[in-house]
Amino acid sequence: MSVAENYYQVQNAVNAACMRAGRDPSEVTLIAVSKTKPVEMLKEAYDAGARHFGENRVQELTAKMPELPEDIRWHMIGHLQSNKVKYIIGAVKLIHSVDSLHLAEEIDRQAQKAGIVQDILLEVNVAGEESKFGTGDIEENEALIRAFSGLTHIKLCGLMTVAPYVEDPELNRPVFKKLKELAYGGMRRYFPEDRVILSMGMSGDYTVAVEEGATHVRVGSAIFGER
Ligand SMILES: *Cc1c(COP(=O)(O)O)cnc(C)c1O
Repeated sequence: MSVAENYYQVQNAVNAACMRAGRDPSEVTLIAVSKTKPVEMLKEAYDAGARHFGENRVQELTAKMPELPEDIRWHMIGHLQSNKVKYIIGAVKLIHSVDSLHLAEEIDRQAQKAGIVQDILLEVNVAGEESKFGTGDIEENEALIRAFSGLTHIKLCGLMTVAPYVEDPELNRPVFKKLKELAYGGMRRYFPEDRVILSMGMSGDYTVAVEEGATHVRVGSAIFGER
């Protein structure tokens, strides 16, 4: 199938999951994760209607950006090194992968320099996997969030998680439930009043994530093919 057909199929599956869960499809943003894929494929997705793209490397992101239409909203979803923050500040709509105070402070510093407030998410390692970034410890995450709230040029909009790789997406349902519980528990007051972002769900499990309240799903291989 073509990139366009894949994109329509994923968007339809998101809409269907919203219907099952009694949610309005406009609450869910489909992010086309285009890492390692050539610009031509991104253009195919754009022509099919994709306006949100996700990348996990700063260099690849900044190389692709000028090749594509300006109305695209770019999402930084991968592990971010502090020394690379300056290249993406203001250029990306949302940084999903903030996992330390040190990184948040550097984003704050660069955003202040640029005269903007950068939207960010805290990456939470819900399942506590060693190979993943972020921590699953609630107290540590709450301490991070409290520290973030002292930084005036970042806006913490919600939480992100990378769930374990599983064959059966149902196995990740508890992970998605947990992220939502965290966001709507003790941390709630640190997030925007109107809308908390929950970035969760990838090619293998995004429909389950939508059923459990994802506001942003990050879908790569189901749109662009295997990497
Ligand atoms: C690659 C990646 C995705 C997309 O993965 P697929 O399984 O190809 O959909 C989502 N989130 C993050 C953080 C990624 O690095």
